[in-house]
Amino acid sequence: MNTLDDKSSDEALSIRISRRLLAELMSHALQDDPNESCGLLLGLGDEADEIYRMSNVNKKPISRYTMQPSELLEAQEKARKSGREFVAIYHSHTFTQGYPSKTDITNAVPVASISTRHVIISLVEKTRPVVRAFAITGDSEVTELVIQTDGEPYRAAD
Ligand SMILES: [Zn+2]
Repeated sequence: MNTLDDKSSDEALSIRISRRLLAELMSHALQDDPNESCGLLLGLGDEADEIYRMSNVNKKPISRYTMQPSELLEAQEKARKSGREFVAIYHSHTFTQGYPSKTDITNAVPVASISTRHVIISLVEKTRPVVRAFAITGDSEVTELVIQTDGEPYRAAD
């Protein structure tokens, strides 16, 4: 289902998340269900090595997410101290597909300094969470990223 224009290198259009981290993203989403979960992927470049869970402090957590500012500062401190950066921002959709909503696209602009990569965990099918990743740039352009993982390639359900 990946119909990517092959203009740039693969590297620019992918994100690396191990199976262990994918499983963590899914379990966080299921724990917070029906509210949206949110957090950050820490690592280097396009490779995540840790999930940083955050509290969703939005007043409508069932369909929106807002990262708690103090936790964001803690995450920044943690990344800085360990020489890492934010590889992506993640959140879940508990009853819609794993594609950025209009709100997600609008909100990508103010959080672009944190990361322009967004990982979305969809719980449309509770027994089979689906993880997808996107780059959302300042001009609201959405590009799906290939998720590279260890072992067999991860494929979002077709
Ligand atoms: Zn969303």
